[in-house]
Amino acid sequence: MRIAFIAHDKKKDDIVDFVKRYKNVFKNHEIFATGTTGKLISDATGIKIHRFLSGPMGGDQQIGARVAQGDMDIVIFLRDPLTAQPHEPDISALLRICDVHCVPLATNLGTAEIFVKALRNYSEG
Ligand code: PGA
Repeated sequence: MRIAFIAHDKKKDDIVDFVKRYKNVFKNHEIFATGTTGKLISDATGIKIHRFLSGPMGGDQQIGARVAQGDMDIVIFLRDPLTAQPHEPDISALLRICDVHCVPLATNLGTAEIFVKALRNYSEG
């Protein structure tokens, strides 16, 4: 599966902990991420990550383009719902394009945990 990770600044510790916890699951998939999120995850886990631009510089839009082209299977996007983001239009566009193409989208750790369970079942065939 092609899986994209994005985390806003206050959620970066959460996403790193999450990927570390399930490294054995994620290492069997093709992982993408926005710039800073990808660097932090790859430094902490050693997982190979295709990194896009940083979110505010267009990384969300790059992931959105992959979704639109049918080149992304899952998006895990830990948004910070309590802080205004300068690239809010890009964030909305990414959420929208996931819905347009029925691409599974987790915007919090609760949903992301469910995705891990699904990925385990997927791996078991
Ligand atoms: P970043 O981008 O991983 O480069 O920080 C995420 C974002 O803030 O949209």
